[in-house]
Amino acid sequence: MPPLSAQKPITLVGGYLGAGKTTFINRLLNSGCLPSQTAVLVNDFGDINIDEELIRSGSDNDQVIGLANGCVCCSIADDLTSVLDELKNSAIERVLLECSGVAEPHKARQQCHYPGFYPHTAVVLVDALNHTHRCADKYVGALAIAQVEQADLVVITKSSANPEFRLAELQPSIDADDADALEIVLGWRGEHAYSELAGPTSAPRFSTQTWRPRRPLPLARLQNFLDRLPDSVQRVKGFVETDAGVVEVQRVGTVTRLQPWASRPASLGLVFIGYAKEDFPAFDEEI
Ligand SMILES: [Zn+2]
Repeated sequence: MPPLSAQKPITLVGGYLGAGKTTFINRLLNSGCLPSQTAVLVNDFGDINIDEELIRSGSDNDQVIGLANGCVCCSIADDLTSVLDELKNSAIERVLLECSGVAEPHKARQQCHYPGFYPHTAVVLVDALNHTHRCADKYVGALAIAQVEQADLVVITKSSANPEFRLAELQPSIDADDADALEIVLGWRGEHAYSELAGPTSAPRFSTQTWRPRRPLPLARLQNFLDRLPDSVQRVKGFVETDAGVVEVQRVGTVTRLQPWASRPASLGLVFIGYAKEDFPAFDEEI
């Protein structure tokens, strides 16, 4: 095995569905703190790689590689291996891996022990607005807590929307809005305090489904449809053609955000991620 210095560090960016991973990665890419030869691997649980599209359009990094349709810590670990194999002898100096929102950081970290690479730090984003409520959820609470426990460093996002938020766990944490947050993340040395012997979490099985409407939807009805989704649908994202043009859809928890999207995305469609497949909408065209 080559000495550690010759190996390329992989910084993992994890955190629950909708914690703000893609936004944070775009900030890292635009910060000037990273070597120009940085590859960004983007793991989307659904079958359309929406985060890849958002990173391609939000930065000028041209080494964005999508890993879609599964979770990199479990179901598509082989896809990660083949990408690392291709990058092994390239000019790439550093890798950022955006884990899916349902990934367990310690499992994702294990996948990064690949010849020529080493897992540098598992950074986990925690959404100040939704985290407390989510940890109490009987279905997804154990996963949300485990993601934080397995972090080397926690980055708190959306704290301006909930300034009183404090993390109950003992992991070191910083605020995403701190002036030096990006430098801290990139310079952080993981302690790997998390015991690999700890038992598995009782995470539910997440499912995903994609809906590709065949014709433009009325914007108001799309909003109404999204507002009525049940709690078990934990995340919705994608691009949809409406009577007001293409919109980017982001739904985290019960909050939906629709905003105009100027360019033509590579794929139109909405990805739903949830833990009760029977709760997915019937995707009736007449929403
Ligand atoms: Zn996984």
